[in-house]
Amino acid sequence: MIRNSKLHVHHMIFSSRSNGPGKRAVIWLQGCSLRCPGCFNPGLQNPEGGLDMETSAMADQLIAHRKDVEGITVSGGEPVEQIEPLIHLLSIIKEKTNLSVLLFSGKTLAQIQVLKNGPELLSLTDVLVDGTYDENLANPQGVWPASTNQRIILLTSRYLESDFEGIPSQEIFIGPTGEIIETGLYGSEERGLSENSSPSGRDWGRER
Ligand code: SF4
Repeated sequence: MIRNSKLHVHHMIFSSRSNGPGKRAVIWLQGCSLRCPGCFNPGLQNPEGGLDMETSAMADQLIAHRKDVEGITVSGGEPVEQIEPLIHLLSIIKEKTNLSVLLFSGKTLAQIQVLKNGPELLSLTDVLVDGTYDENLANPQGVWPASTNQRIILLTSRYLESDFEGIPSQEIFIGPTGEIIETGLYGSEERGLSENSSPSGRDWGRER
């Protein structure tokens, strides 16, 4: 059994409508070695950024918001590169809530299936959006997934393909200190997170 541990986190928000079906909490993990050309979130590639957060403490925050959202989206960075603490977090969430889990990964389903602990991670995931973003295969704004080589893989019966139609492609928030915050699926202007923005559980996605 995987015990309490730490995830390297860039941001968490608790009220997004542009990171999957319905209203969702979103966790952006810090660090990604995949280096996709046209990466949405280049500020999240550096594993030195972000903040280490205990998975049990993150679970407490998410459980506190369980009646406000229908699910959690885990994005990056590359979540699979922190697979063990992520499994610990999602195990708690699945045990104690009915929240759905949507996972973005630059790895394909087949690549995750053969990883140590990959099947366990997938068993805790309702929807996997897999594959690296390819800017040459980008879908039009508003269409999931972001590029045509990626796939929306329904691992449970929680969602239908039609649930991924009409999701807002961009959101703008005003943060706690008046900063402008953007989050969404498409392109570095809409989806990227700044490398220097504050991590931790504060309620925002992208600052500029
Ligand atoms: S698009 Fe995602 S998978 Fe690709 S380099 Fe950026 S963070 Fe990593």
